[in-house]
Amino acid sequence: MPESALAGQVALVTGGSRGIGRAVAVALGAAGAAVAVAHGSGSDAAAVARDVEAAGSRAVTLAADLRDERAAAALVQRTVDAFGRMDIVVNNAGLTRDGLAVRMSDEDWAAVIAVDLTAAFVICRAALRPMLRQRSGRIINISSVAGVIGNPGQANYSAAKAGLIGLTRSLAKEIGERGITVNAVAPGFIDTDMTAALPVAVRSRAVELVPAGRLGRPDEVAAAVVFLASPAASYVNGHVLHVDGGLA
Ligand code: NAP
Repeated sequence: MPESALAGQVALVTGGSRGIGRAVAVALGAAGAAVAVAHGSGSDAAAVARDVEAAGSRAVTLAADLRDERAAAALVQRTVDAFGRMDIVVNNAGLTRDGLAVRMSDEDWAAVIAVDLTAAFVICRAALRPMLRQRSGRIINISSVAGVIGNPGQANYSAAKAGLIGLTRSLAKEIGERGITVNAVAPGFIDTDMTAALPVAVRSRAVELVPAGRLGRPDEVAAAVVFLASPAASYVNGHVLHVDGGLA
């Protein structure tokens, strides 16, 4: 990817304070985009913004609890206020509340659907307005292999991530003729805080299932996101790009 592939463009990355979102924010910055690093309670967002600046671009940090739909949608206007436009949205923030369905509480179901699915929808809806006006834009939703093949103990998470794929494909068909693309990335097991929280036995079994024989790295997911955001992907729309070492 040429270093300036995204020069002059503005990106919003949710969950930008850690893990995959952090790698995505820095990679978009290195490709020339100004980046709004949205975060929840994480204290690392300022460090991510400094990394984006060190990569040669501009950055702001935007705090918002994505369980709050109005706060989620407002991230779009806050990004436009900071940088004057909105070209790329990466709906990356996510959380897990794992447990077998038979024992899953209403709260654990609702929290995951709110952050992993509903927040992405309200952000897409808000971002489409400026994108439709400028007749260009890229939306990239971070789904999961769990949303494609399911995962025991993750009924809430798998449902949210499968929902993101349905959202992606429907939006792609709705606005495909307006110069906007909507795609999803479905990571497998990536080495972040989210997988570090898994029991050691589950992590080991996961690695055994991956043909690549290892966990993925956040920068390997970020590379897929930068591709989908770039001019090179101008005819890719409604696609689910697996970054999973061959797992699904
Ligand atoms: P992570 O390290 O746990 O980071 C999660 C991010 O989401 C953090 O930046 C966090 O912000 C943000 N977030 C969580 N709850 C939030 C809330 N209520 N409001 C605002 N922000 C919130 O996760 P990751 O592994 O990088 O995963 C990133 C995305 O990839 C997620 O959507 C995840 O489902 C997906 N994914 C991950 C894997 C994997 O193996 N790691 C595999 C497939 C898909 P704060 O820290 O600031 O609160």
